[in-house]
Amino acid sequence: MAIDRRTPTNTIVGRDKETFLNEENPFEAMMLRFDKAAELLNLEPGLYRVLRHPEKQIIVSVPVMKDNGEVEVYTGYRVLYNTSRGPAKGGIRFDLQVTLEEVKALAAWMTWKCAVVNIPFGGAKGGVVCDPHSMSIGELERLTRRYTAGIIQVLGPDSDVPAPDVNTNERVMAWIMDTYSMHVGHTVTAVVTGKPVEMGGSLGRREATGRGCMIVTKQALEHLGMPVAGTTVAVMGFGNVGSVAARLLQAEGCRVIAISDRSAAIHDADGIDIDSAIAYSGEHGTLAGYPMGTVISGADLLALDADVLLPAALENVITTRNAASIRARIICEGANGPTTAAADSILDENGIFVIPDILANAGGVTVSYFEWVQDRGGYFWTEQLVNDRLGEIMVNSFQAVLDLSKEHKVNMRTAAYMLAISRVATVHRLRGVYA
Ligand code: NAD
Repeated sequence: MAIDRRTPTNTIVGRDKETFLNEENPFEAMMLRFDKAAELLNLEPGLYRVLRHPEKQIIVSVPVMKDNGEVEVYTGYRVLYNTSRGPAKGGIRFDLQVTLEEVKALAAWMTWKCAVVNIPFGGAKGGVVCDPHSMSIGELERLTRRYTAGIIQVLGPDSDVPAPDVNTNERVMAWIMDTYSMHVGHTVTAVVTGKPVEMGGSLGRREATGRGCMIVTKQALEHLGMPVAGTTVAVMGFGNVGSVAARLLQAEGCRVIAISDRSAAIHDADGIDIDSAIAYSGEHGTLAGYPMGTVISGADLLALDADVLLPAALENVITTRNAASIRARIICEGANGPTTAAADSILDENGIFVIPDILANAGGVTVSYFEWVQDRGGYFWTEQLVNDRLGEIMVNSFQAVLDLSKEHKVNMRTAAYMLAISRVATVHRLRGVYA
């Protein structure tokens, strides 16, 4: 199959690319991995073209009445990347860094992620360019409701099901569910996941992504013949994913020697008490000022001599500039896209076992799927059942990716993409091209 491998220059910019190719363009990072896996799968050119393009990209202007009476207009995106396997599924983030390129990449990642864990969803993502930390609760609610109204044509339990992502949470999901329900005239809990448990959310959803990271990290340790007890872990990002993963790994016997958030990084070779760090961060809204351990830089954290490095913040933190300094034996990608494509080969050369994002952080969407199933069935499961079913899916998915990586002698990332792309491609072949 012919794949364009020309060196990026100002004159070679693909049709669907509005920004120049660079290492930190997340869509390109995703596509480079996609291309490699597609080539190994010998994907037919027509399907290759289909899977390289998002199905639908929506840009909305979101006017919001501020508390001071002035109207501000924000830009919101929703991208449905591929819905061949089922309704689009993907989070919504509120952040100043949100771009269409990023949302496209995240939507594609969701497509591959749902396919890796074999749940019947396609991939989507949304975002609004805003600084939620500078907005009041009332402003955030009005922003959420107006953004929801702007994209309401695509939303629905059978078409597109959002979830929380960076800077959005259960409360935001409740507003989206309410806005959608008001538009259609009846309560539709299954239109979003990651809702409060009291209104159709699933037990275990809040912890699911971090729990999934813990499960696949244990699988990787077992594969590499390393004991869980005493394994040292450094966690970048102490939000939903990072804090839960840190707590659960510690509960399994690991020693978490470093944690960080956007304002501080803490190191303690004897191990940080994660419960106390969670309590501190909950109370102060940040790790800054945490009284135990030593303050280090974010760059130092990445280069620490820890067995496991767990990036759980934003994308593009492991790049060609710092990949060579990483000393961890395992990287568990809790965040989406923390490693650039160009950094992959450096990690490979250094023998680092990477559990790629589309596998490592798939626990969240897996329990979102359970939530959607429970909402539609109107029958709710115990937390133990949720966790057991999550464990089964994460272990089976890890093994399926590992088996493929051994069979094709490729790293775990390429194997995960191969598994995902082959599953999506199979459905496309069976469905054919609607004309
Ligand atoms: P969150 O907003 O709860 O937490 C993000 C954390 O990262 C915060 O502690 C923040 O302070 C920290 N952070 C931001 N910039 C940083 C920096 N430069 N250095 C260190 N820390 C920094 O978000 P989350 O839900 O935990 O998501 C984190 C990542 O995991 C994102 O990439 C998200 O897409 C991905 N993810 C989340 C879920 C989920 O269920 N929440 C599922 C799959 C993937």
